[in-house]
Amino acid sequence: MVNSGKSGDRNESLKAGQAMHGLITELFPIPRSITGQGVRETLRILQKRIPLSIHEVPSGTKVFDWVVPLEWNIRDAYIKNLRGERVVDFRQSNLHVVSYSQPVRRRMSRAELLPHLHTLPDRPDWIPYRTSYYKESWGFCLSHNQWLGLTDEEYDVCIDAALTEGQLTYGEVFLPGRSQEEVLISAHICHPSLCNDNLSGIAVATFLTEWLRAQPRRYSYRILFIPGTIGSITWLSEHREQVSGIKHGLVLTGVGDAGPITYKKSRRGDAEIDRAMAHVLKHSGQPYKVLDFIPYGYDERQYCSPGFNLAVGCFSRTPHSQYPEYHTSADNLDFMKPQALAESLSYCEAAIEVLEQNKTYLNQNPFCEVQLGKRGLYRAIGGQAGEKSREMALLWVLNLSDGHHAVLDIAERAEFSFSRIQEAVEALVGAGLLQEVRRPDNT
Ligand code: ZN
Repeated sequence: MVNSGKSGDRNESLKAGQAMHGLITELFPIPRSITGQGVRETLRILQKRIPLSIHEVPSGTKVFDWVVPLEWNIRDAYIKNLRGERVVDFRQSNLHVVSYSQPVRRRMSRAELLPHLHTLPDRPDWIPYRTSYYKESWGFCLSHNQWLGLTDEEYDVCIDAALTEGQLTYGEVFLPGRSQEEVLISAHICHPSLCNDNLSGIAVATFLTEWLRAQPRRYSYRILFIPGTIGSITWLSEHREQVSGIKHGLVLTGVGDAGPITYKKSRRGDAEIDRAMAHVLKHSGQPYKVLDFIPYGYDERQYCSPGFNLAVGCFSRTPHSQYPEYHTSADNLDFMKPQALAESLSYCEAAIEVLEQNKTYLNQNPFCEVQLGKRGLYRAIGGQAGEKSREMALLWVLNLSDGHHAVLDIAERAEFSFSRIQEAVEALVGAGLLQEVRRPDNT
């Protein structure tokens, strides 16, 4: 687990992991897409846990270079043989229908049906996940083994779906802090029964929100549950004036698989969130990867578009498309590891603790070293390695607290964990040897 020392014990953490798995299990069956009832139902379930407001933006609304699409809702879908048996059944898995399929209901020949079928020949038991948001078409996804069984000449094909003027729906939580400066947390909510890709991020963002509500907050927090791509574009378009208040941010996605953490830096590359997360990972004792920004991936693509260039990184475990279960029916409840969910949550909490506490101080006795012993800060009987590093932390903080180095700068330069340096800061503030350099907004 994360060595933050403040994120609760292992049992508490595992309990949180199991609770997140429980939330994922509850949300799993809902047929979500980028719009529609599935998104609303998902958000209403989250409202039982967090103070989430639901917002709707009408179809046809222009959002930068895009337009909010028609709302898509699906009731049922199947491929029946002429004996009336459902050989492909939406009620068995909502992945069976290509998301945003046009409605269809008629008998057709096998030859006519085949071009509308998608399978994974290399993984013959898995159902792929496919979408057709921005072009008019329809289709079914099925296991390759199911496909091999489709040998009849004709089938009754039905997609009981509707594309209508409606709304794009998203959820938003705002938690005020002492400062109006904001931390943005963003998770996508547009995939149907897929766990790592959408539900894991939703679960960790929800539990992170619960944790944040219980914390004293320097920053304000805005947590978005939005359909991927069009949702972040819509939110940014509708909140253009507020965007400048966002100082740090994280996109959470793919945070429940067993792979090591991957943090993708913001487009800026050296933003405080990039440094905070890299620092937490470096001191975790666990394997991890930090990647440079590329303009592909999840909603960080929109937050980091050049017009906004927000300090928003992407926090995940195994990156999308680099695990075989990605966008298939194997991204299921078994693929979600409570331990991994818990660990992901605690890394996010630890990075936020760094942001919250990363203040700048001024040494009140900058001329030569202060005498720590007479203030009870220097152990009379030293010699243990732990004591030594504690004293070194005090010396580093005193030396670098010249008004130009924040706590994270000191931790990086001293190669100590943030929490160890922060402990030294608190001891020195307590002894009257350090004073915080107040920022203009007095936070
Ligand atoms: Zn996806």
